Amino acid sequence: MQKRFKLGVTLIAIFLALIIWLPQQILAAGPKNVIFFIGDGMAVNQRRIPEEVHGRKLFMNTLPVVGIYTTYASNTIVTDSAAAGTAMATGHKTITRFVSIGPKRKIAYETLAEAAKRMGKSVGIVTTTRITHATPASFGAHIRNRDWENKIAEQYLEKDFEVWMGGGRRHFIAKKVENRQEQDKKMKGKRSDQRDLLKEFADKGYAILRTKSDLLGLAIEKDTKVFAAFTYSHLDFYLDMPEEVPNLTQMTEVALKILKQNPKGFFLMVEGGRIDHAAHANAAVAAVGDTIDFDNAVKQAMDFSKEDPDTLILVGGDHETGGMSMGIHSDYFMRPEVIKGISKTVVALGYGEVLKTPEKAVEIFIAQTGITDLTEEEIKQIEKAIEMTKAGEGYRSPNRTYNPSWFGFAFVNIINKRARIGWTTYAHTGHPVLLTAGGPGSEKFGGFYDNTDLAKRIADLWGVTLKTWTLKRVKR
Ligand SMILES: [Zn+2]
Repeated sequence: MQKRFKLGVTLIAIFLALIIWLPQQILAAGPKNVIFFIGDGMAVNQRRIPEEVHGRKLFMNTLPVVGIYTTYASNTIVTDSAAAGTAMATGHKTITRFVSIGPKRKIAYETLAEAAKRMGKSVGIVTTTRITHATPASFGAHIRNRDWENKIAEQYLEKDFEVWMGGGRRHFIAKKVENRQEQDKKMKGKRSDQRDLLKEFADKGYAILRTKSDLLGLAIEKDTKVFAAFTYSHLDFYLDMPEEVPNLTQMTEVALKILKQNPKGFFLMVEGGRIDHAAHANAAVAAVGDTIDFDNAVKQAMDFSKEDPDTLILVGGDHETGGMSMGIHSDYFMRPEVIKGISKTVVALGYGEVLKTPEKAVEIFIAQTGITDLTEEEIKQIEKAIEMTKAGEGYRSPNRTYNPSWFGFAFVNIINKRARIGWTTYAHTGHPVLLTAGGPGSEKFGGFYDNTDLAKRIADLWGVTLKTWTLKRVKR
């Protein structure tokens, strides 16, 4: 009798243990850590050309699983970063410019970052653009206009994510100088409500970082949370990075140190946001430079995954930009070494000194690019740039938004032609995007699918359903 009683108690104990233990196992399904790398504007050629330039494989291209996906928005085949970000962050299509809300403005879609938070994981958002730009916003905000960045900034304050890093301090500080902290006095603010969101983040327990020294000197403790907007707008291109601005690799390294402390794991989104801007400008040197920085950040994650193998790494893009191609016209001989020899971007050239005389322009071009054997035709292009600039009206080049100076325009054309790198547009294209993946669950990301499947498959691995809710109307 007593034996039976003992057996009964043991069985009940096992049963109780199972009911407590099982749901936790189900809740904690899937890879503990997910690191989602998004190269803005980065598709196949953006991640192949740097390999030819530097004569080695990119780290991201060594990950074992390869997939490819479509990127169309609900209203157009060629998408933008808001609709594409929404698809990847929430698993839903929407129209361009909308951020993680439905095309009818009625519902909001939960993002992977929010779902991770709900699961008790830590969350980090890291980018080289303004942190309020479309891709990061897709993970941390719900709004019907990607340009309402002040509003996006306010929404971030409510998220309690552990890590925010990028540029765009202007959306977090007041227009009135007297409403800003000492360190922000010299920077212009965009907030006409005169709020100091940096102070509000600090009040919520965030360490506020403004410089690379702040970042590298950060003492990381158990509950460290970080908000960092290093620059007024976007970070500089990798090749032009000033001393006190960190690159994506450095930001990713610190983000991982903070996030890895959570025993339940983390979700980290890292965006190489300016590959897109470089491609809009058709600036191959800048695009390759920023892709290398992005790839070095991927390397950080790959090294981290050796330390904690329960880490899924995904490296994709939101859409292709520029129609960047390997080879132009009628010969097969790409000359990637032209790009390798240039250590600064020429995008910012075209103002001030360069305008004085054609000789001055050529001198500056040579100093910046090391190209000394300019042909007559190339010199003519530079002279034309001066002419057009002096004509006043023609000051803005045909690439009006992203490479507006005639010099920047002429210079990238000279370099592209020499390297045999082609471009079809100053905007985005509908090319499918390449994805590579490694770590637990990565086998789910092979094949040809759609950008919405990324969020769906991550959520499936985690065993969660991404929620939707009725959208509160946001006024500008
Ligand atoms: Zn773009």
